[in-house]
Amino acid sequence: DEDGAEQRVVVTRTPSVAPQYRPQDAIITAAGARAIAIAHLQAAGSPDPGEPEQEPELVYLDVLGRPLLVWETHMPLDLSGGEPTSKTLYVSAATGRVLHEVEHVRSVKATVFPINPATTPKPEAVELTNITTDGAGSTLTGSRVVSMNCSLTPPENEEDIPLWWDEGECYGMQMATSNEDGDFDVPIPDITDWDVHTVGDDLYSEVSMFYHGERFLHELEKYGLTKFKCESSLMLANMRYSEISESYPDLDYGPLNNAYYTNKCEADQGPTMMFGQGSSVDYAYDGDVVYHEMGHGMVSLLTPDGLSDRRLRPEAVIADAGGINESIADYFAIMMTGEHLLGDYVARFWPGYGKPYIRTGENTKVCPENTIGQVHNDGEPLTAALWATRKRVGDKLDTVVLDMLPRLPGDADLETAAHTVLEIAKERHAEGSWSELDLEHLYRAFDSRGLYDCGRIITDIDEVATGRSMYLRGLSDSVTPFWPGPMQLRGEVPVGSDNLIISFRLSPRGTSTGNPNTSPVDAELLLKWADEPMRFEYQLTSKTDDLDGSPADPDAEEVIQVVGDWDEQRIATLISSSDNQLIIRGLSPGTVVYATLVNTYKSEAVASSFKIESVPTELLDQGTPLPDGGAPDTDTDGLMAGETGEQRGEPTASCACRSGDAGGGGAWPALALLLLASRRRRTR
Ligand SMILES: [Zn+2]
Repeated sequence: DEDGAEQRVVVTRTPSVAPQYRPQDAIITAAGARAIAIAHLQAAGSPDPGEPEQEPELVYLDVLGRPLLVWETHMPLDLSGGEPTSKTLYVSAATGRVLHEVEHVRSVKATVFPINPATTPKPEAVELTNITTDGAGSTLTGSRVVSMNCSLTPPENEEDIPLWWDEGECYGMQMATSNEDGDFDVPIPDITDWDVHTVGDDLYSEVSMFYHGERFLHELEKYGLTKFKCESSLMLANMRYSEISESYPDLDYGPLNNAYYTNKCEADQGPTMMFGQGSSVDYAYDGDVVYHEMGHGMVSLLTPDGLSDRRLRPEAVIADAGGINESIADYFAIMMTGEHLLGDYVARFWPGYGKPYIRTGENTKVCPENTIGQVHNDGEPLTAALWATRKRVGDKLDTVVLDMLPRLPGDADLETAAHTVLEIAKERHAEGSWSELDLEHLYRAFDSRGLYDCGRIITDIDEVATGRSMYLRGLSDSVTPFWPGPMQLRGEVPVGSDNLIISFRLSPRGTSTGNPNTSPVDAELLLKWADEPMRFEYQLTSKTDDLDGSPADPDAEEVIQVVGDWDEQRIATLISSSDNQLIIRGLSPGTVVYATLVNTYKSEAVASSFKIESVPTELLDQGTPLPDGGAPDTDTDGLMAGETGEQRGEPTASCACRSGDAGGGGAWPALALLLLASRRRRTR
């Protein structure tokens, strides 16, 4: 290129068919796309999504190999709706539908408390790089990293409030300043003092972020990575809210138990990274957390299409790309620290967190048994394989991981990542830098975690009966009738039973603020009565029922239609505020079902304890002989929980007297109590 750097094409992609529309065919205007984008985010729960950062641009979006003419609309960082968000929306130029969205904000952890722990109990004197101070009063403004604090006290002058500030948030402002010697001699927190971790405006956070951010960039220069996603990265510490949180009424602020990478590079648009002042710990204290967030910036720089799209597969819709993104962000932290515990400061100083780290390279997660459609979780088998390999072959794995990134498509799955790593390692072997044994170590580490071949189908009876968690992608205008779930479960009726009991608990995704997510959630079951998984196919279709009055082309083939060979779509019975249950009876032993969940609402839903079980026939029918189950797909006796009770007489008494027997049965799950509870409620 013009800088004299070598450029090499490592992978190319081209559409398989011609576009339906040329740029001159656009029906929706740029202004129309802009209004649609804003309305779309408002409908998704943002009170104030802001205006697009620049005029929408007409581009082609590759969907299932066809280029769709869309308006690429970059929306600003939006902090007004709870979790930070900043999306690029792709608005159809033919119909105005929002066909695709890319979230740029990456949180450390979404389900529990998304953080990476810091690991330095003892303060050491360090040198801050790429910053010059002129005696006293300089701020932490370096040539590539800028540190900013966040205070609940507004600045004296209103014009000092950052443009990206929203009501209810702390005010970003640089507070740490150099002393007469030009040094940042701020108070070092005594971490053995519990109160120190929840001081909102502490100056040490600012210094910590700056040091770790600079150190990250410095270390990666050794790998030839002299650029970062942003020329200047704005890092915000002590992010929190003025309103008291429901879960933390004793704190005098609303905490943010998370850290984020936002992909914003212009200071006016918002911080590049944010580190929460949590309810028990300060995320900016943790080097791991800083490295992880910086790692997302490096992933963003090195992946041409980003790494966050869902992969549409025959058996499931999966979130692996986001998982790889998280895993590699963790791998960057491993590169920085040389050890496998991530976020150990955060976890250790958070009473009740339950483990001494947020994530670890020594984890035992494998694919598909531990993938659930949640990015932080689903990246863990990959992290485990990478860490296991690195332990054996050493840090020469690092450049293999770095070289993988440009070769991955935006919807890469774990298998693609595993095979790409292997391909590059083989190239290294051919060049002589990797031995045969090195290759073997790598292959084994990935193979033993299921990463080369990982159909998202859980067949193990115990696994299926224990219950799985899964994240269910919400509905959107770009799909019909719904997205398949991220896995399928296989259930089989055992001898002595005539039933399958499919149950799950459903809730909205968690939050990081201690205020509950009250989004409504709903999911339905897809069932296939055969000993073979459901097979989904995805095709583009035109659709008109969601278009109201916009100047749309009804023939635009741009909505992903999901078809498949499921036999039934069933609604489970809600048996408590979040527990759902479907009882199907009249089945012969040996009958097999494959099941998945589909989200029928727009907001993401989290299903937990999704399981398929059976109980002895007599437990459900108090000993009354039942007709032999006919062909299961005729569903003659397949009744849902409530109906079963009404038709069978006195199920409550039956269950009560039988549950003791069932408990001693060993093979039978301890689900009698749940059944019992549901019956009682129903018979009242
Ligand atoms: Zn992350």
